[in-house]
Amino acid sequence: MTISLPDYIQSITPYKPGKPIEELARELGIQHAIKLASNENPLGPSPRAMDAITAAVSNLHRYPDGAGHDLVARLSEYWKLAPEYFVLGNGSDDLIGMLTRALLQPGDEVIIPAPSFLMYEINVRSAGAIPVFVPLRALAIDLNDLLKNVTTRTRMVFICNPNNPTGTIISGKSFDTFLQALPQDIVVVVDEAYMEFVRDSDCVRGIAYVQKPPPVVTLRTFSKAYGLAGLRIGYGVMKPELAEAMQRIRQPFNTSLLAQAGAAAAIGDEEFLKRTIRMVHEGLDYLFTELSRAGIRYFPTQSNFFLIDAGKDADTVFDAMLRLGVIVRSMTSYGYPTYIRVNTGLPEENKRLVQALKQVL
Ligand SMILES: *Cc1c(COP(=O)(O)O)cnc(C)c1O
Repeated sequence: MTISLPDYIQSITPYKPGKPIEELARELGIQHAIKLASNENPLGPSPRAMDAITAAVSNLHRYPDGAGHDLVARLSEYWKLAPEYFVLGNGSDDLIGMLTRALLQPGDEVIIPAPSFLMYEINVRSAGAIPVFVPLRALAIDLNDLLKNVTTRTRMVFICNPNNPTGTIISGKSFDTFLQALPQDIVVVVDEAYMEFVRDSDCVRGIAYVQKPPPVVTLRTFSKAYGLAGLRIGYGVMKPELAEAMQRIRQPFNTSLLAQAGAAAAIGDEEFLKRTIRMVHEGLDYLFTELSRAGIRYFPTQSNFFLIDAGKDADTVFDAMLRLGVIVRSMTSYGYPTYIRVNTGLPEENKRLVQALKQVL
């Protein structure tokens, strides 16, 4: 018996995550590897989140509050916006899926800068909609180029700010001009997974646009700056009308009891957040100094990761780095066959990264 898949499902290339440390140990027997491939927080989870999760464990026999009342209340207080503007997700990946399911019909077009986060394409295709890819210019999203690709079938635009994998940002001025020119019924999804790390004050923040037209949706996650990638929790900020549509289609218990408790505590952990941001900025400054000295070509960033032009096949460089116990990300599948992406680690991890790069390049 053969199972027939719709063409649009067959067209999907599965997401390839960064290589886990355990897998490296299992496959190559390499111990004490460091992973700088998934933009995770090397400081570990927020300590306050860990305490809250431990305390919540005794309630695990209960279903969570599906709407996440307490966490939403914390978010509402933090952003000074009514609770109706928030939707929780099992990571922001879940929110991307809910948005595409709630808004798209087969044949609809969605504008996606390329390269960018690969989950946009996967979710758009899953909905039977058509991804319209718009190449970056000098590693940055060009909003004018996005506008040129708008048709009567365009329903949604994804903007990753800062963009993964290039680390570039969108300025407030260019975003304003873009929104004025965009047909008002197109939903603009701004993915701000790395916003906490941005140093450039020109960078636009989507939440400032939620109370006026057109529909701008902002996605935030606890996976990066808050160190909770394994917990799986993120949220979207959007007009209540759209939030209500999302509440209809989400799984009834899409965020777990532990995730809600951990995230609610993490928001209040300013100390941890500050320490994380400081470590990332110091790490970038150190790495850029050392790479410049070594004559290795890298690209500036507003995030906790950046691109390096290895000047040779990125998959080969990835393998060679792996054998030295340093996990990086090859950018071959993103269309940059000689680039790798790395994120900042602990000071000693950054040192190992530099040593390994010098050896391999
Ligand atoms: C890491 C990342 C996310 C976060 O995904 P979660 O599902 O919240 O872990 C979202 N968008 C981008 C661009 C990312 O790099």
